[in-house]
Amino acid sequence: MMKALFLCLVLAALPAFGEYQDTPLAPIALYTQFQQTPPPVVFKALQDEVGSIMAPSGLHFSWIAQTAASGSEDLVELAVITFSGKCDIVDLDPHRSVSGPLGWTHISNGVILPFAEVDCQGIRGFIQKQLRIISADDREEAYGRAIGRVVAHELYHIFANTTRHGSSGVGKSKYTVQDLLSARFQFEARESLALKTSKAHAALEWAAIGR
Ligand SMILES: [Zn+2]
Repeated sequence: MMKALFLCLVLAALPAFGEYQDTPLAPIALYTQFQQTPPPVVFKALQDEVGSIMAPSGLHFSWIAQTAASGSEDLVELAVITFSGKCDIVDLDPHRSVSGPLGWTHISNGVILPFAEVDCQGIRGFIQKQLRIISADDREEAYGRAIGRVVAHELYHIFANTTRHGSSGVGKSKYTVQDLLSARFQFEARESLALKTSKAHAALEWAAIGR
């Protein structure tokens, strides 16, 4: 039996459909705050995975450590991501798989806010049995990719401005260990379209044209 977790609440909402033009976009500023600094390999893998998952929608990101934020960044669109718990793969327990929420996005009075939290330790605990089976050389990268998939899920809620979920792929509401560790995991066409036709996407297009 596969284990699955709820990433966040499922509520009814429909994406707005519009026309998508293939304009290079301005980057989205992603402010990050880590409770524990991740190893460079983990951080690079998570950034690469977010970039790869979001590439079909045209969204790309400028990662800024919150402590290094100058306040003068280009703020067309932004999100703040807080990573909690241990973000490394030291002392994995091969006998335990821990279930719990992996990530969530804040909503206030029905409005989706650009603030997401990703539970590094929760993701670690959920996949640690299978992570141990992966060769030591590839383990940090696999863990970073798994975190990146949870980040991409929350960014979808924020930038598609929707609480709805897909039936499969990165936009679905529950992930299995296999989803987090498989070689490839992407959005379905519907979620990708919701990102392409979002207000955020249009604002980033206009910002790019104005440069
Ligand atoms: Zn969700």
